[in-house]
Amino acid sequence: MPVQEFQLIEHYFRNGQRQREDVVVGIGDDGAVVRVPAGQELVLVMDTLVSGVHFPINTAAYDIGWKALAVNLSDLAAMGARPNWFTLALTLPDTETAWLEEFSRGLFDLASQYAMQLIGGDTTSGPLSVTVQAHGLVDEGEAMLRSGARPGDRIYVSGTLGDAAVALAGLQSEASVTTALRERLDRPRPRLELGQALIDVASACIDVSDGLLADLVHILESSGVGASVDSTKLPLSDAYREHESDVNLALSGGDDYELLFTADPDQSSRVEAIATQLKTPLTCIGEITRDTTMQCLDAQGTPMALGRLGFEHF
Ligand code: ADP
Ligand code: MG
Repeated sequence: MPVQEFQLIEHYFRNGQRQREDVVVGIGDDGAVVRVPAGQELVLVMDTLVSGVHFPINTAAYDIGWKALAVNLSDLAAMGARPNWFTLALTLPDTETAWLEEFSRGLFDLASQYAMQLIGGDTTSGPLSVTVQAHGLVDEGEAMLRSGARPGDRIYVSGTLGDAAVALAGLQSEASVTTALRERLDRPRPRLELGQALIDVASACIDVSDGLLADLVHILESSGVGASVDSTKLPLSDAYREHESDVNLALSGGDDYELLFTADPDQSSRVEAIATQLKTPLTCIGEITRDTTMQCLDAQGTPMALGRLGFEHF
């Protein structure tokens, strides 16, 4: 059953949210007004999901809602930010209540885990596309950037790599994909606690969304350094090893939403302590080098030929 635009906003996106006390004006006016405490800075991130590009067209509405926020939270995590608020620009082909119900449930299930409030947005009609802008806070001058990697720093990555790419490849070849693997694609779990813990430990940080090597290149270019990656050290899940005989998808598959960061070797015991405390594997996969090339070594220690590094839109 279709609904009207204003009813839609009221019913699915405004009502039933827990009100944060730092929201002065939320949904319902021309703009939102929020309070930023003295001594903190606002971090803004935005990501769009287009149907058929960022998720398969048959993706469940719940998962689209979840993922639209999750990919943004992954960016906030990489900056070391604490998430507070978000806005939502929704382009819908129609206003099916069953779809909206599930979409908003997925969105708010994740939002409520971090006590985030939806404070505004825009609703239009057209081919399905979802844009979220998320807002977080860091202490003044504390945001983690891509530009701080130094020669000799170790390169770490959280979790395991390539699982979402294995799931996507499975779906595309109409092979059966386990629920656990499919969840890595559809319901990424942003590493927010890790990002905040890394604030004064990591020298540079980025979230892995386009592929490990592609995202590492961003750190290298921003920092003016190079890297040597040991492909035998890449953290791979059992499911990955079951499906794949090489590391290609772990190196260049997208949608991991893990954190890739660098840290001075002096910090290695703190990195280990964070991994233990958060029960999150943090694996050292290589080292930052002074010369500005990137090499990835195979099991024999020979540099691999690197083809396409990751996902690119154009
Ligand atoms: P305006 O015409 O002033 O841009 P709109 O009619 O687009 O306002 O929106 C009315 C209110 O509803 C605004 O507060 C806007 O932020 C909010 N809003 C619109 N669409 C959404 C959405 N998809 N999610 C959350 N809030 C929304
Ligand atoms: Mg207006």
